[in-house]
Formats: sequence, C-alpha cells, structure tokens
Amino acid sequence: MRLSKGTRVVVASHNPGKVWEINQLIQPYGLDAVSAGELGLAEPEETETTFEGNARLKALAAAEGSGLPALADDSGLEVDCLDGAPGIYSARWAGPGKDFGLAMKKVADEIARRDGWNGNGDGPGANFISVLCLAWPNGDVRTFEGKVFGNLVWPPRGGNGFGYDPMFVPKGDARTFGEMEPEEKYAISHRTRAFAAFKAAMLDDIVPDAQKAEINGRDIAAFSAAAASLSTRVEAAAFIGRLKDDLSVHQPDWKNATLESYLGALERQLGAMTSSDEPAWRQLAKAMLAASNND
Ligand code: IMP
Repeated sequence: MRLSKGTRVVVASHNPGKVWEINQLIQPYGLDAVSAGELGLAEPEETETTFEGNARLKALAAAEGSGLPALADDSGLEVDCLDGAPGIYSARWAGPGKDFGLAMKKVADEIARRDGWNGNGDGPGANFISVLCLAWPNGDVRTFEGKVFGNLVWPPRGGNGFGYDPMFVPKGDARTFGEMEPEEKYAISHRTRAFAAFKAAMLDDIVPDAQKAEINGRDIAAFSAAAASLSTRVEAAAFIGRLKDDLSVHQPDWKNATLESYLGALERQLGAMTSSDEPAWRQLAKAMLAASNND
C-alpha cells in the first residue's frame, strides 16, 4: 500500500516539536497531516524494548484509533561506550520535567563514571537513530530506519535544535547539532534519513511541491514547537533571539508590539501560570511567546 496526495495521515505523537518536524517532511508531498493530539487520541505507553517496537506500537494505536494511516517515529541517542544507552530511554532520562540539560549531564556523568571522560580529546562515539513506522487501520505496517553517527562533546554547545543536540557533533563537521541552522541539521539527520527510506518506498510517485508554501505572517507553530522542547539557558537565549528577529519582520502581526504592552502581557502571563515541573527556562519561553500574541 502506498500513499497519495491529499491522503489524511495521523502524526502519531503528542510532542509538538516532533509533530512539527514530521509535518515539515510530509507536507511538501501534499499529505494532509493531523496530529494524534488534535484527534484526541490517547498516548500509548512505550512498553516495547526496541525503537522499532515502540514506533510500531504508537503507529498502530493511532491508526486503529482514527481509522486513518498513521506515521510514528521512535528515536533516541545511542552512546557506544554505554552499550547503546540512553537508547529507547532517551526521553525518559530527562525526567518528568523533560529537562534535557539534566539528561545531557546524566549522559556525561555516566561516561565519566565508566571511562573517566572529562570532555577532553575526541569525545565518545554515538549516534542518533530514528525509526519511522507507517501503520494502516487494518494492521499492516512498514518500518524505515535512519542513523547519523558522530561524537559527543562536553560541555554542551549551541542553542538550536532540541534534546541532546547541543552535545552531539556529526561526523564531517566540527559543530554540534545545537550550533547548526535547522536546515543544516535536517540535511543529514537520522529522521531525514529514515524519511528518505520511507519516501522511496511509499511516496515515490508523488512529486513534491516545488516551493515550500510561503509563510505569511508569523510561524507560531514553529515557535511553540521550539519553546516546548527547550531546556537550557543557552536554548532560551537563542529562542529570545528568534523572537526578536520575528518582531523586526512581523511587527504588525504581534498583538503586543510595544515594550510597554509586551511587558504588561508578560507580567499577566507569568502571573496566570500554574506551577509546573518543566524547566524554568521553558516556562519563561512559553510565557514570552504567549505575551507576544495575547491580550
Ligand atoms: P521518543 O519521543 O520516544 O522518540 O524520544 C526521543 C528522544 O530522543 C527525544 O526526547 C530526544 O531526547 C532524543 N532525540 C531524538 N531525536 C533527537 C534529535 O534529533 N536531537 C536531539 N535529541 C533527539
């Protein structure tokens, strides 16, 4: 079974960063993407022991719950000298607050404990892996895998990307994923490679739209996705830089475009937030984004 233009596909994830990335990949092919969250589908527990097993479980649950083909991805960081850890537990190492500053520190501490690594010299070998699974409501599934190999660095560098990006240098480059522009990372990322395999098998006869749809006005979804996955001070600083650039280009679209109205909205926004175990930098970024656009 293949997919054709206009087919409605469920992106089987509740993670806004991941939904945004997968949408970026499939929308040029004219697939009509809707997220599991938008359809009110429950998020299944990832109980399998492999990336493939978890991707399959998520895609099948969404396909069966929605009656539509569903695309899920399971991904993570595998460190050679930690026997592939954190692996399928990559998200879980960040704890309930999804704090990747903490998760990266945990990886560095674990390597230091085993190998005495203190950030010097060539960092330990590691790879990101992504397994994409496309499932149909009748239970058919296809899976596709992509990897990108590289080395870890410590301390983390760069505020772009998400998760473990600031501590991963892909082979052939000296910068971490966190220091690259998003397009540079996507050009070589594990998810892009898994998608290339998916495309060759499932979409080969669809011609992608030549031009990416022109973004008119602000791309709030991209900002929300970035805020939802940031953890560290450096990432927060990069986020604020992007907000500032956005203001200079899209000032008429900001509800609070003067400093006075923006600060007032930010004050109200922070005042109205309820306590959360998310990293404080992420809460601040979310509030700053909301303040640009709220009454
Ligand atoms: P999943 O949601 O179970 O697939 O968990 C994936 C986790 O792996 C994410 O939360 C990140 O911690 C990590 N991860 C996957 N892909 C990337 C990436 O491209 N950059 C950085 N971290 C990633």
